[in-house]
Amino acid sequence: MTELRPLVDKLTRAHSLSTEEYETLITGRNKETASLLQEEADRVRRSIYGNKIYIRGLIELSSWCKNDCLYCGIRSGNPKAERYRLSPEEILDCCREGYALGYRTFVLQGGEDPWFDDEILCALLREIKALFPDCAITLSLGERSRKSYELLFEAGADRYLLRHETANKAHYQKLHPAKMSFDRRMECLKELKQIGYQVGCGFMVGSPFQSSADLAMDLKFIEEFRPQMCGIGPFIPHKDTPFGDKSAGSVELTCYLLSILRLMQPNLLLPATTALGTLDPRGREKGIQAGANVVMPNLSPVSVRKKYLLYDNKICTGEESAQCTGCLAQRMTSIGYQLVIDRGDPKNV
Ligand code: SAH
Repeated sequence: MTELRPLVDKLTRAHSLSTEEYETLITGRNKETASLLQEEADRVRRSIYGNKIYIRGLIELSSWCKNDCLYCGIRSGNPKAERYRLSPEEILDCCREGYALGYRTFVLQGGEDPWFDDEILCALLREIKALFPDCAITLSLGERSRKSYELLFEAGADRYLLRHETANKAHYQKLHPAKMSFDRRMECLKELKQIGYQVGCGFMVGSPFQSSADLAMDLKFIEEFRPQMCGIGPFIPHKDTPFGDKSAGSVELTCYLLSILRLMQPNLLLPATTALGTLDPRGREKGIQAGANVVMPNLSPVSVRKKYLLYDNKICTGEESAQCTGCLAQRMTSIGYQLVIDRGDPKNV
């Protein structure tokens, strides 16, 4: 503890550490440092966002995917994955239901499904914006061409989530098939930012072959890239993937990294992810207490939820959207935070 305190102070003050210092903070972690980071992170977050927690309604458009990421349950190489695709009308119904429940951000996420071409997506985006002009739309549809990102932005998309997955190219290649490119993924993130999206990157904690040095590289990348949002959650194995027998990431390390991210970039929009809640019944509460300020409940139709299985034992696949929202609202109140009806844009500091 005594030797890590100066690093926590420096991070709090300068919002920056060297890659080596990030690594030291990770490898030397202990309970005392975790509490110190958490206290500082909570103070910083409250000074900007108060006790407000932003909600994003997650709509899982499609479980079809042309990619074959080794960790993901809906990879093209998993013949056991059940495939579905929501129609634009079904997606609009999810938005209607979400709006009535107080959602002012819709996140359209899916596998890389070519059926959702620019024409279909742009028409859908225009319709959502016409019906709900006070809502933000976030896309999380993987890698597309720059032209496509431009068209979707013009049609009304405000934000784009594309986790970089790992900032170490050699590690990236161990998690993805040879035809997927680390350089292209990083380029996509830069293009999205240039076009004007609010951008989210992120990574899995405890993905196979990940070292503390890799995590330090992730932190340094995020510090320099300065995304508006950052999604991190523990890796959880899916039985029908090549990583089915690997061990899951840890809730404790994920929370530790959430605190570091909060101190690194005080106004960052940081979700307490469903993966956290899957590994630990109080995982999302712990994530919020560590410094997260966003939750992303599921608005997908209950009939398809069990088919969007990125990992085993995913939670919230049986409840209606209203139940999920109510449950989460209660969980947040129980720890002194409050879900709010708000687009939840980043606050300038
Ligand atoms: N096709 C989109 C959306 C991917 S799903 C894209 O490429 O961006 C969203 C995120 O879920 C992924 O970026 C990945 O980090 C995470 N994920 C996938 N499989 C996972 C697993 N087994 N455990 C934990 N998180 C996983």
